[in-house]
Amino acid sequence: MLHKEILASAGLSAAELYSGTLDNSAITICSPIDGAELAVLKPTNPSAMPVTMELAQTAFEQWRTVPAPRRGELVRLLGEELRAAKADLGALVTLEAGKIRSEGLGEVQEMIDICDFAVGLSRQLYGLTIASERPGHRMMESWHPMGPCAVISAFNFPVAVWAWNAALALVCGNPVIWKPSEKTPLTAMATMKIVERALARFGDAPAGLLQLVIGGADIGDALVSSKKIAIVSATGSTRMGSLVGPKVAARFGRSILELGGNNAMIVAPSADLDMAVRAIVFSAVGTAGQRCTTLRRLFVHESIHDILVEKIRKAYASLPIGNPLDAGTLIGPLIDQPALQHMQNALEQARQQGGGVFGGEVVTTGVPDGAYVKPALVLMPAQREVVKHETFAPILYVMKYTTLDEAIHLQNDVPQGLSSCIFTLNLREAEQFLSAAGSDCGIANVNIGPSGAEIGGAFGGEKETGGGRESGSDAWRAYMRRQTNTINYSSQLPLAQGVKFDF
Ligand code: NAD
Repeated sequence: MLHKEILASAGLSAAELYSGTLDNSAITICSPIDGAELAVLKPTNPSAMPVTMELAQTAFEQWRTVPAPRRGELVRLLGEELRAAKADLGALVTLEAGKIRSEGLGEVQEMIDICDFAVGLSRQLYGLTIASERPGHRMMESWHPMGPCAVISAFNFPVAVWAWNAALALVCGNPVIWKPSEKTPLTAMATMKIVERALARFGDAPAGLLQLVIGGADIGDALVSSKKIAIVSATGSTRMGSLVGPKVAARFGRSILELGGNNAMIVAPSADLDMAVRAIVFSAVGTAGQRCTTLRRLFVHESIHDILVEKIRKAYASLPIGNPLDAGTLIGPLIDQPALQHMQNALEQARQQGGGVFGGEVVTTGVPDGAYVKPALVLMPAQREVVKHETFAPILYVMKYTTLDEAIHLQNDVPQGLSSCIFTLNLREAEQFLSAAGSDCGIANVNIGPSGAEIGGAFGGEKETGGGRESGSDAWRAYMRRQTNTINYSSQLPLAQGVKFDF
């Protein structure tokens, strides 16, 4: 399929794709597959941001009064429209972000899944009833909409992250303003076409309920700095989060931060090694190592280290690298040439810090202008400095351990705290890993790799990963305000804690 056909099937017209040709602030979008120019976009004018936020506020005042199950109906329709558009939007994810076909489709499936979840949730925004200490009194909690929610998303999940946030925010009664990565705005524009179809079928949603703004950090910052935005959900690097988090806090806004990871697997002596190898390879090289949950650190018990490394090297040698649009490709390109350069720099640092590097070479044959690399396996003598940083590329650092306590200590001894896992058939080891003294991450798995989470659980991580939670479980609470209500149905006015104030 040609690039132009993919863009057209996703509903993007030539006029929309070349809106910025006369503008010197234009953003040029190239496919990571072959460097081909896909679009030249006019970014949102910063002076238009106050109007966008005002419109969201007006939409909020109406949307918060719509019963939650009716709000859920809009999300149900969105899920239906996404189902119908899955193939086209999935192909565009591949074209713009470089994911292989099945991962592009998987990303859209994730959007559909969270819509399904949110529809059910729209009838389950439960509060508690609480026993009051006073006679004739009842206490309860109510959950109310918060206000406009900004979603600032990263290039590597160009549409799913918006859906995780938007589906929940909508049923919780909040409008959404989306600022996608400046590297992947086309998938966002195509998603808004799908949104428009759902809105048209819904009928009476307020204008400005779901808006899109295009641009870089300056446009993101307009949302971050405005008191009009009740919730800022920001996904991206720790560097970005360290700027966004304090700004939102300084104006007493609420932030949901989903930042970088440095995810690990511990492989214990009893592990099913063949299963471990499959999990290692998928989670270390899938999406060309550009998932926040990508496996980056492998701690292997010294008794099985050499045999496991041999199996991984063998598996790595068989992986098809190339055009992600081609059936059979398992490793597509990195997002751009700077990403490739970061990878090469990290490998050089690893060598200097005592690492033995296998793979990691730039691949040029057949894919002239894309940033293609062989995945790298790096045998490290210890967890040196380079290992503690997230390099957004397929580099897997392998280290030996002797005791499980040591392995857990090493796993936790990094600034990030997103995802982790252990491969073991030993119940004691598995439970120790999951215990309070075990993994310090937001996600901890047993006999499953660290990536590829389902939407049913709360997703996010601790420490420099930002502490935010999105998606399933009770993550919806971050999109609502909690109100504690005490109702007195007696004819007395007793004070709490037995306080007397008679006059
Ligand atoms: P990035 O930090 O460069 O950009 C992310 C988004 O933040 C973009 O939309 C960007 O325009 C915006 N941004 C940057 N600076 C800003 C500022 N000062 N104010 C407001 N907005 C600003 O990240 P990226 O390269 O697109 O994505 C890769 C990173 O994202 C990796 O670190 C990865 O681990 C992380 N990530 C985390 C999760 C998660 O759920 N924890 C999910 C996906 C990606």
